[in-house]
Parts: sequence; structure tokens; C-alpha cells
Amino acid sequence: MRAEIVSVGSELLWGKTIDTNSSYLGRILQECGIELLRKSTVADRLEEIVQALRESVSRADIVITVGGLGPTSDDLTREAISSATGNPLIFKEELAERIREHFRKRGVEMPEVNLKQAYLPEGALAIDNRVGTAPGFILEKESKCIIALPGPPSELIPMVEEVVKPYLEEKNPEEVIIQRTLKVVGKGESWVEEAIQDLMAPQGNPSLAPFAKPAEVHLVITARGKKEIVKKMIEEVETKVRERLGEDIFGVDEEELEGVVGEMLRDRGLTLAVAESCTGGLLGYRITKIPGSSDYFLGGVISYANEVKRDILGVNGEDLRRYGAVSEEVARQMAEGVRKLIRADLGVGITGIAGPTGGTSEKPVGLVYIALATPEETICQRNVFPGDREIVRWRSSQTALDMVRRWLIKHPKE
Ligand code: AMP
Ligand code: MG
Repeated sequence: MRAEIVSVGSELLWGKTIDTNSSYLGRILQECGIELLRKSTVADRLEEIVQALRESVSRADIVITVGGLGPTSDDLTREAISSATGNPLIFKEELAERIREHFRKRGVEMPEVNLKQAYLPEGALAIDNRVGTAPGFILEKESKCIIALPGPPSELIPMVEEVVKPYLEEKNPEEVIIQRTLKVVGKGESWVEEAIQDLMAPQGNPSLAPFAKPAEVHLVITARGKKEIVKKMIEEVETKVRERLGEDIFGVDEEELEGVVGEMLRDRGLTLAVAESCTGGLLGYRITKIPGSSDYFLGGVISYANEVKRDILGVNGEDLRRYGAVSEEVARQMAEGVRKLIRADLGVGITGIAGPTGGTSEKPVGLVYIALATPEETICQRNVFPGDREIVRWRSSQTALDMVRRWLIKHPKE
């Protein structure tokens, strides 16, 4: 089973409306085991819509159109489907009655143009719209199927949940597509790719494909087939990938690094405090985004000025002068200082140059020292992060969390 989506609407092309409907439908098709091969977006022009439909129908078994079912003159999807299939539009009294009823309930007069929505291509099955006036429809013809849905997500989503998804599941009862995302931190995309090159199969079944995210690499395994076997197919690939990447993989699917680190701290019964300079509280924000983080996160100091590093965290004034605020010595003393000040088991210190200004040849923009103070030792990492200010700050928080994670892995619970 192969599907295509045709999104209709000039506002989508102008960038005024983001086509969230087709992303949503992409997920639904995936869940139904139907491969989505192409999405196209066309203007509110009859000949464009007809042409896009003809092309999509020639390639795919199922074509879903989104939008253009409204009552106004720029809503042309109904006419376009009729024209592309040769099925004339037929007036449906029962649909007209539902539309009249919709207005009656709200106590407003129905504009005559709304009756346009009571026409369906011959042979089409109406999909009731509980929210708005435009019914959707399903038209089956010569082993192909066109599903027309209205543009407003508040109307489209209930129609998909209640009618379209069950319909698609029934059409394709055997196959499902499932995915699992393995999330890697601390290694770049090309490094990851090299480590698992021979397992990579972007078009295979199961397939394995990498996606670079800010300071993470996601490896997506996709398997298509009978319900009973797809899980096993995924697990086999996952095992092989894990053998290669080990603890570089921090989580799966919806898991986030701050949540994973939080779980580990809770599990060990350890507490954390942070001293942030260039990240300005981003690390604390990310940690406390997780509900229940008060179990392990005690607090932090945003020590942006040197005086705060010195007077509150106890960083040595002489070291600040000699080595500069962005230095290994200062990062270490920030981590140790906040650990002691807040009486936490672990303390993190971050100091760096986020840019765009302030860099020198010895200390370029993106230079960030991150230290982790623990009961046994203080470790420090020197990084030169690429990217703009926001990315440098993000990578800093990411690396700090990863240092905590890797330290916890090396120091398992007794
Ligand atoms: P239409 O049925 O094409 O007249 O669309 C009505 C409204 O639905 C538009 O003005 C948009 O606000 C919204 N809409 C249309 N298409 C989409 C889409 N693909 N994704 C999200 N919203 C949409
Ligand atoms: Mg429109």
C-alpha cells in the first residue's frame, strides 16, 4: 500500500500556514503500515490541483487531499477531484440538511454558498464533520482511493481518528510499520555513521537511518511487516547497533537527556547543583523541566560576573586574574564551589565564550570549560563548540548533562 498527500492552499505556499496536517497524516499512515511516498502542496487553482491529483493517483493506491473543501470560491478540491476522476458532482440532500442544521443550532442564517459543500463526486462516501460544515469524503475507484479532508486541524483530526484511521487499518490489516529511535550524545554524525556503516540500510526493511539533531544523533530503525514479526526485526537491529555504540546511546524514542540523567541520579540517591556562566541558567532550566526533579536537583548559581564567581562560589581571585574567567582552573573551582555551597553530591561548573563577540586567538568563540566535582575527584573537559550563541549554549548544557551521565555509568550503585 502506497500513499501520497496533496495539500491544497495558497497560504501553505506563502508560508502563512504551516502544513501541520500532512505531518500528522504522515504519522497516522505510518501507524497503519502504509508507506507515504510523496507529499505535494498546490495553490488554490483548479488546474494545479487536478494535475497534482492525476499524478498522485497514477503512482499511489491512496491519495489524501487536505483543504479546499470550504464554501468560498477559492475552495476547489471538490471540483478538482470530480474533474480528475470524471465522477460528476452530485447534490446530496442529507448533507445539505446537516449543513442547515449546523447553522440552525448556532442560531445564524446559512449563507447560500454553504450548499456547495453538499455536493460530492458520484460514488463518494461522506465523512461526517462534527466540528465544522465541510464534510470530507472517501472515493474508491478502480482499486484506487481518494480521501478528501478539510483544512482546519480541529476538523481534520477528529475525522481521521473516527473514520479515516479505522478505514485505513481495515484496508491494510496485515502490515504495520513501527519505529524505534536510538539517541546518541557526545559523538558527531559522521563518527556514528562510520561506526555502524555496514548496518546502515536507508531503504531496507528493517531500515536504519541517522538524523543529526543539535548535539545529538538519532538513529531511526523502521520495520514494516506483519504485527507479530516487526518487533523482533527492530530488536535485532537495535542489539547490533548497541554492541557498536554502547554508552554513547543515552535513550530511546521520546526520552530526553535531562530526564535520563535525572532518573539515574534518583536511582543512586545523589543530588546535583550547578554553577553556570555562559549558559545563564539553561542547564538548571532543562533539569527542572522534568517533573519530580526536586528529588535530586538542589539548585544553582548563575555566576555571570567575576565577582559572583569569587564572592559566592569562592573562586580564587588570583586565578581569575591569571587564567581568566574562561579557564580550566575557574571551571573546576566553580564546580567544587557550588557543590560545597549547596551541599550537593555532585557540582557542575560551566564557563565559556558563547559569542558572537569576545573571542581571541587563544580563546576562540565556542571555547567552553565544563567541570564536574564529585566526592572523589573533579573532572574537566575543554570544548570548542561550533555554531552561533544559542547553539554554543545548548551544546554546553548538553555536554554537562552527558558528563554527569557518563560519570554515573562509571560509578554504579554499590
Ligand atoms: P481550507 O479548508 O483549505 O479553506 O482551510 C481552512 C483553514 O485551515 C486554513 O485557513 C488554515 O488555517 C487551515 N489549514 C488548511 N490547510 C492546512 C494544513 N495543511 N495544515 C494546517 N492547517 C491548515
Ligand atoms: Mg484553503
